[in-house]
Amino acid sequence: MRWILLGPPGSGKGTQAKRLAAAHNAAHLSTGDLLRAEVAAQSELGKTAKAFMDRGELVPDDLILKMIRARLEHMTNGGFILDGFPRTIPQAEELDRMLEEIGEPLDCAVLVSVGDDEIKARIAGRARLEGRADDTAEVIERRLQVYRSQTEPLVEYYRRDGRLVEVNGEQDIDRVYQDLETVVVG
Ligand code: AMP
Repeated sequence: MRWILLGPPGSGKGTQAKRLAAAHNAAHLSTGDLLRAEVAAQSELGKTAKAFMDRGELVPDDLILKMIRARLEHMTNGGFILDGFPRTIPQAEELDRMLEEIGEPLDCAVLVSVGDDEIKARIAGRARLEGRADDTAEVIERRLQVYRSQTEPLVEYYRRDGRLVEVNGEQDIDRVYQDLETVVVG
């Protein structure tokens, strides 16, 4: 399986991506997790990225693409699930180019759709549990705006050539997972 999972912050796509990857022996690649590791390691990339992440802004495309390129080349055996990447049209275009180069094109882009009110309630709950710096009310608001303006256009990008599949992310976690498994079966 070669998938990307798309969806707003708090859509549960991270949890679903991990479970799907484990069940199908695919690599799970989350740019958010990779960036948080860079921040924790206080690398140059981590220091630069942190300022954007703390404000709920996207980390610039060139940094993200550099970070992902090396990893993609090493993980195509058995397939992959990309989670939180791509997040902009230039990232999506570059991903298509990279995958074409290695002869491993995407099977599909799966949108886990969840409305704004539900997202805000969920992220507020997660902030209390995990204490993430980017889960405060203002930052949540900003991340949602950024999602709607910069990432949501990807839905059209993938729909246009028939690669988009949508599942209802407002259902309970197991039901969303079942729907995703149905997509795998085709
Ligand atoms: P996530 O865990 O996917 O919600 O990502 C947390 C934060 O990392 C985001 O709010 C962005 O600041 C940054 N980030 C993660 N993935 C990307 C990406 N593909 N492009 C730009 N910024 C990203």
